[in-house]
This record gives sequence, C-alpha cells and structure tokens, in this order.
Amino acid sequence: MFENKEGRTELGSLGEFGLIDLISKSVELKNKETIKGIGDDAAVIDNGNQFTIATTDMLVEGVHFDLTFQPLKHLGYKSIVVNLSDIYAMNATPKQVLVSIALSNRFSVEAVEELYSGIKLACERYGVDLAGGDTTSSTSGLIICVTAIGTADKDQIVYRNGAKEHDLICVSGDLGGAYIGLQLLEREKKVFLENPKIQPELEGSDYILERQLKPEARKDIVEKLHERSIKPTAMIDVSDGLSSDLMHICRQSNVGADIYEDKIPIDPQTDERAREFNLDPTVCALSGGEDYELLFTIRQSDYEKIREHLDVSIIGHITPESSGINLIDKSGTSVKMTAQGWDALLNK
Ligand code: ADP
Ligand code: MG
Repeated sequence: MFENKEGRTELGSLGEFGLIDLISKSVELKNKETIKGIGDDAAVIDNGNQFTIATTDMLVEGVHFDLTFQPLKHLGYKSIVVNLSDIYAMNATPKQVLVSIALSNRFSVEAVEELYSGIKLACERYGVDLAGGDTTSSTSGLIICVTAIGTADKDQIVYRNGAKEHDLICVSGDLGGAYIGLQLLEREKKVFLENPKIQPELEGSDYILERQLKPEARKDIVEKLHERSIKPTAMIDVSDGLSSDLMHICRQSNVGADIYEDKIPIDPQTDERAREFNLDPTVCALSGGEDYELLFTIRQSDYEKIREHLDVSIIGHITPESSGINLIDKSGTSVKMTAQGWDALLNK
C-alpha cells in the first residue's frame, strides 16, 4: 500500500524503540489524572486515593511463540505473566487483566480451552481477575493481547527515571536462561523437522525450558522489598536483556552505570547449555531477554537490608552520566556497553 511512495523509511531502520519514540513525539497528555504516559513499564493514572497502573503486551504467533514447542496452556500462562511483570516493575500490585485473542479456524474449541486453562491458572496464582477482553478472527496465526491493571499507594510507585549516582544496581533471580531455553527448543525443532523419528534431547534442561515456556513474574521480590521498607529508586523488568533494560534506566535517570561481569547471576544449567551452543553465558544474560526478573536500583543506605535477601544480586553501581554504561569484565577491563537488547523488528 505504501510501497511506491517517495521518502519511504523502513521500519527496521528505526527499530522497536525508535518507532516508539516516533509515536510518542506527537503525544500530549491532556488529562491531569494521567501521571505517566508512554515511556515506562506501565502507565500511571491518578484515581483519587491511589494510582491505577495499566500496561498491555501483545504476543504474536511466529514472532513471540512457536506452537510446535509451546504448549497452549503454558502460552496462556506466559501471556498473563509478562504483563503482570510490568505492573510489578512499577512496584505496584496487579488486580485485573483483560485478554483479547484473534484466532483462525485452525484452532479448535479444545485448543482455546487449553489456552484459557493457563490464563486462569496464572490469574489464580497471582491473585488477579480476568475481567474482560475481546475475541476476533485472524487469517492464520494466533494473537494474544493482554492488558493488566494494578494499583499502588501514590508514594510507592517506582519509575525508570529515579536512579541516582552511587545507588546500587540489583537484579533478582538469574539471567540468560530463557534465551538458552529457546535456543535448545529451536535446535530440537530443526532436528525433528529433518528426521521426525529422532526424539528431542531435552533431558536435564528443565530449568531453562521452564524459563522460556513458563516464566514467573517476581511478585515475591516486590513483596519482600515492601516488607523490608526498601523502595527502589528506579525499576524495570528484564524483558529485552540486561544491557538494554539497564540502558533504559540510565537514559531516563540521566546517569551512567558500572556493572561487574562476575556479579551477574547465571544459573549453572544456563551456563552449561550456553557453552554447548558456543555462546558466552554473559552475552546471553546481557542480550537474551525474556527473563522477567526485576532490575532495580537502591540507595546505599539500604544495603544492609538487601544483603540478606537471598534472591537478589548486587551487580554494580550508578555513576555520573558522563561515565557511560560499562561492564567490568572478569579480567578487570572496563568495556563500554551498547544496546543489544532483543529487538523484535530488527530480528525480522
Ligand atoms: P515493556 O518492554 O516494558 O513492555 P515497551 O518497550 O514495550 O515496554 O514499551 C515502552 C513504552 O512505550 C511503554 O510505555 C509502552 O506503553 C509504550 N508503547 C509501546 N508501543 C506503543 C504504541 N504503539 N503506542 C503508544 N505507546 C506505545
Ligand atoms: Mg517492562
């Protein structure tokens, strides 16, 4: 439709983030209730006593999931979790989800039931209500679009833009597993397509497969931080990879960062399988994405409170903006980091 127009700009030249920048440029917030618009993990709306938090994410067959190895129940579960993760990344509590699906007659009633069994399981586990959505047809693939809505006390919201020099950089859980899980599934799919008689070699890889197929959102971390009266200065969930997501915090907070390679948490199974693929586990953590862990900064005075927190690693500290973002590698050499986060448009 737009093929013959002069001055055509390819989407790939902007990338996902460039495109969002372009869209947000002409957007003006007119309602005083809209506290935060485009640019964070979720929008923030003043509803009087509290803030309402809203976020939406779309999962497209062939782009975000492959039904040859993604069970529909897990897919339903994941589609909820990835949205809840954005609500937790604002230090808020999710309460409702709206789920819209587009599907073709390739899908049966049983398939839809299977998808919704995962959606309902996630809703139950995270204490959110499935409060609506939309159903429509699609010409071929499956599309799932979830909107999550949450609440937070007004003084509890954490944005991407609050990191200050000397703050400690923390990350929950471990990184890179979801990416390696995907590499493994894609390799086994290829083997299967070439020879359907060969059984997939997935044994001993449960952890990384689960990280890819059925991730969890870190509700527990948000709750534990709250119990310990730690309010992060900035927070984001790791959906695009540590380097890209750290870069969002730094850019929006106008700061730099030093992170230490030997402090980046990587599960032994991720490490082992990455090496089998001739991949550097650190690169998988930096650029892999889809881990849905929380990356956040805290004041140094909160160090004692977080130290005994078992599932959080302190990976570095915030520096002045002029220092840029650096990775201090295992030999002590400082390497400037660039955004290499997973970018759906560039990967196409
Ligand atoms: P996340 O990875 O946390 O889901 P994204 O990178 O998808 O965040 O989005 C960053 C910001 O851009 C969010 O505030 C999101 O609401 C906004 N955004 C993304 N796509 C669009 C769009 N097509 N129109 C308006 N806002 C968008
Ligand atoms: Mg996010």
